Amino acid sequence: MAFISFKKTILRNLFSKPYTRKTEKEYPEGTRGHVENDMDVCILCGLCSIKCPTHAITVDKAAKTWSIRPMSCIQCRCCVDNCPKKCLSMGTKFQEPGEEKISKTFKQSEKAIAAQEALMKAAKERAAQAAAAKAAAAQGGAAPAAPAQNSEEKKD
Ligand code: SF4
Ligand code: SF4
Repeated sequence: MAFISFKKTILRNLFSKPYTRKTEKEYPEGTRGHVENDMDVCILCGLCSIKCPTHAITVDKAAKTWSIRPMSCIQCRCCVDNCPKKCLSMGTKFQEPGEEKISKTFKQSEKAIAAQEALMKAAKERAAQAAAAKAAAAQGGAAPAAPAQNSEEKKD
C-alpha cells in the first residue's frame, strides 16, 4: 500500500508546477542591493562617510577617490538620502558573496576634477570681488563698477 501511495506522489509531482520559484533575475523597483556613485557629480564632501552607521565609506579628497566596503554595507540607504549632490543611488543587484572583505575604490575623472576646480576658482574670485567692494564701501569710496554685461547700447 505504501508503494502505491509513493507512486501517486511521484506521478503528481511529475505533472504539477513546482512549489518553489526560481530566483528573480530582475529585481523589483526599490530593491536595496548595493550603493552606486556617479563620480563625475560627487564633490568628495565626505558627508556620506560621516552618516554611514557601519563606516563602510571612505573619502580621500587628496587622492580624489571614494571607496566602499560592500561587505560592511547594510543597505540602509542613509548615505543616499544625505548626499547633497544626489550622486549616490541604490543599485538593485546584490553583492556577490566572497571569501575576502573587499573594498571598491572609484576615482574622479580628470574632466570632473578640472570642472570642479574651475567652479572653486570662480567662487573664490567672486568672494574676493565682493570683499573688495565691501571694503571700498566701508572706506566711503565708490564701489567698483560692475563689468558691462553687453557692450552694445541700444538707442530708440
Ligand atoms: S555625500 Fe555625495 S557628494 Fe559627498 S562625498 Fe558622498 S557621494 Fe560624494
Ligand atoms: S547604505 Fe547604509 S551602510 Fe551602506 S554605505 Fe550607505 S549608509 Fe553605509
